[in-house]
Amino acid sequence: MVDTYDLIIIGAGPAGYTAGIYASRGGLKVLILSGKLPGGQLVNTTDVENYPGFDKGILGPDLMKIMRKQTENMGTTILDKTVIDVDFTKRPFKVSTSKETFIGKSAIICTGADPRKLGLEEEKTFSGRGVSYCALCDGPLFKDKELFVIGGGDAAMEEANFLTKFATKVHVVHRRDKLKASKAMQDKVFANKKIEFHWDSEVAGIKGDKMVDSIIIKNSKTNKETTLPTGGIFVSIGHVPNTVLFKDKVELDKMGYIALKESMQTSVPGVFAAGDVHDHTYRQAVTAAAYGCMAALEAERFLDKDN
Ligand code: NDP
Repeated sequence: MVDTYDLIIIGAGPAGYTAGIYASRGGLKVLILSGKLPGGQLVNTTDVENYPGFDKGILGPDLMKIMRKQTENMGTTILDKTVIDVDFTKRPFKVSTSKETFIGKSAIICTGADPRKLGLEEEKTFSGRGVSYCALCDGPLFKDKELFVIGGGDAAMEEANFLTKFATKVHVVHRRDKLKASKAMQDKVFANKKIEFHWDSEVAGIKGDKMVDSIIIKNSKTNKETTLPTGGIFVSIGHVPNTVLFKDKVELDKMGYIALKESMQTSVPGVFAAGDVHDHTYRQAVTAAAYGCMAALEAERFLDKDN
């Protein structure tokens, strides 16, 4: 016997949980399939100081535990299983794990995005211990330190500028001799006296004991390696949306994010998306949660019309 749900939510970050809370509270029978990392990117962060409702901040994993509990309290079924296939060609939709297939009258894709990694072994070791992928989230925790930003795009430049509010100095390490960022952004960073650029350079190593204390950068033209002391490294070399599963199932944009029509709707009626899987601009827990709310309300409207 296959279980049929009004709504299947794929992914369990702030977007997925919030969608679950709203949809279950709205009376729908809801299943969340959480995937390999229940809680999403926030499970890999430490202090979260900018999620409203926590005056002293909260640890990312704790925030996600609370969200999960709240979602379950509303009646959502959450299974820590990974979706390996979807069939959105006709309704009801089919969502499959390696062992089971679930049936959903509607679906919300909340699979998020992962920050692109440099690919160094030490990057993993020091993630959350001086290596960060979000200056807006973690920057204020690095007061009065000398910091490094890796990347040459708009996000990296925005982060470098932002970090100068807290840091004594910000170094930008970029693999080319010119930035990819827009002219306006370049004008800003070049005018900022606290930012120093290391051109044609890549990160060759990250060192430290418990926390990062130095970075090795290598100039690709001279092959010279330099070790510099640092209190924190912000990797900002783009994001990779988790959409492999949905290629040819719903429309993606040219960067691989889910392309939305109006009202959180994907190219398939009844399939919605919420959070970093479609939003490459804001990428915040609170914005993902808000998108989750909107997608759930739209799914409810869709089902009302449909029945
Ligand atoms: P981008 O893809 O624009 O830039 C990524 C940067 O990282 C590039 O400079 C790239 O180098 C570098 N890079 C990629 N892979 C590696 C690697 N393995 N090692 C070292 N460096 C690497 O991503 P962003 O996140 O900056 O921006 C995403 C989108 O969001 C863009 O369209 C951007 O314009 C937009 N955005 C706009 C903002 C604004 O307008 N305020 C703010 C933030 C983002 P290379 O230059 O060599 O390709």
